[in-house]
Amino acid sequence: MKRFWPQLLDLRALVLLFVLLSVLATVCNSLIVAYRIQRDALIDSTLEANRAYAAKVASSIEAFLHSAQRRMKYSALILADHWDDPAALRAEANRLRDQDLDLNAVAIVGASGRVLQTAPQVLRSGHDATLDSVLMEQTLHARKPMVSSAYISRSGHLVLFISQPVTRASGEFIGVIGSSIYLEQQSALHTLISSHFHHEGTLVFVVDGNRRVLYHPNERQIGEIFTPSPAVDQALRGEYGAMQMADHNQEQMLAGFAPVAGTGLAVIAEQPRERTLAPLAELMGQTLLGMLPAGIIGLGLILAGTNLIVRPLRQLSITAMQLTAPQAESQLLNVQAWYRDAAAIRRALLSGVKLLQQTLGRLHHEAQSDALTGLANRRAMTTFLDLLTQTEQPYAVLALDIDHFKRVNDVFGHDVGDLVLKHVADILKINSRSSDLVCRSGGEEFIVIMPDSPIAIAETIAQRIRENVATSQTPAVGRLTLSVGVACMDDQTPTADAVLKLADERLYRAKQQGRNRVVAC
Ligand code: GH3
Ligand code: MG
Ligand code: MG
Repeated sequence: MKRFWPQLLDLRALVLLFVLLSVLATVCNSLIVAYRIQRDALIDSTLEANRAYAAKVASSIEAFLHSAQRRMKYSALILADHWDDPAALRAEANRLRDQDLDLNAVAIVGASGRVLQTAPQVLRSGHDATLDSVLMEQTLHARKPMVSSAYISRSGHLVLFISQPVTRASGEFIGVIGSSIYLEQQSALHTLISSHFHHEGTLVFVVDGNRRVLYHPNERQIGEIFTPSPAVDQALRGEYGAMQMADHNQEQMLAGFAPVAGTGLAVIAEQPRERTLAPLAELMGQTLLGMLPAGIIGLGLILAGTNLIVRPLRQLSITAMQLTAPQAESQLLNVQAWYRDAAAIRRALLSGVKLLQQTLGRLHHEAQSDALTGLANRRAMTTFLDLLTQTEQPYAVLALDIDHFKRVNDVFGHDVGDLVLKHVADILKINSRSSDLVCRSGGEEFIVIMPDSPIAIAETIAQRIRENVATSQTPAVGRLTLSVGVACMDDQTPTADAVLKLADERLYRAKQQGRNRVVAC
């Protein structure tokens, strides 16, 4: 399967992409972890704060009721001694009510259930808030200090009733003294709870054993029956604690709860979870903002680092596309391959360049030279003459041809003929300068091109070559001669073709004049 899309991205973009993706993943992960830790810590601390707050309010209510009970116990002691004195009963009822502003209405009731005295007195006229018959029956029956469940009095008030039994010194139960506490609005309980410090958004309410709301910051809730909830149920069972729970609107709440010991009341302190976590979003925003400068610096470092890593590879890849160029090697040497992999690629490319250029050189040489003698071939000669013509360099040409070479082949064979050709080629090389071009122009014919050589010098060299060949011992053959035609570039022969032609004509003449000679004019 062909995959094209990665090729749309270069190495730099790919490295950047992967680095940025991994950085992004790390940052997101850190933020999520930080968010979770902060969230759990906030929830835990709010639950703990609400639990402590509920317990504190519960203990304050308990202390308040306990103190009211104690005051009424004192009254009960006084009443026991003056039970049969109505004036004393009235005086004590009035004293208790007038002195104790927490107690809204006071009643003294005989063991039979007959109301002996109330304060204020108007209560006796049938609007009596305290004298709920069922409640009174329970109270008389219990014969012990009691805190009632909340109830709506005949006068329409939500009331909590606390009472103390009155017993003579002999232990005889003779009645109860009781007092109601109004729970609405500016009640003692209201003042008590609302005077507590509490967190912004934390809502505190008090319920009795029937889940009737005795106190609530929203006054309309007071007197309502609270929907069943695990926190309220646990608190009414006498347990302290805190939990997350849904309220009647299905809103998640962080609730602390506590019972008011000995009363059957429970206190709940709760805060919407959403509100608790509200600062978290701001905190996360600040965290992100705090990370921003370091992030920008990090991004810059990533960009710079990516550039540093990718630059040598890019330079190497550009050079790799033109390894045959003459400057390829120097370009490779200039690449700052500062890390191991880049250096390894550069080493591999450098050896590749060398191998390629050697191969190319060899191929070039092979294309320009004669395989048997190693001399230049006709193609090289043409190139050389073109160069001299372009640069307007004068030159002389020697045209050489071995005499009676056919016979050598005929008598000694073709292989010996080849050896003779190499032997003559060696003599030509020895007698030429490095600036000359010695060329095998065909069969047993040779041409020597001599830049900047006047005809006289060229003729001298030609004679020297002829003598060398004539006097040297040719392999297998022994004696061998050659003939030479010499020509020079001048006004009569201004082109390469003309010079070559003239040299050829003079060679022909040398042959005609008996061979083993040089003709230069
Ligand atoms: P002359 O030049 O003196 O007039 O006589 P010649 O015998 O040299 O005459 P010609 O130029 O006709 O003969 C050239 C011979 O060279 C013909 C051919 O067999 C031989 N020859 C050409 N190329 C090669 C080669 O590569 N190897 C060998 N061994 N012989 C070659
Ligand atoms: Mg010939
Ligand atoms: Mg010949």
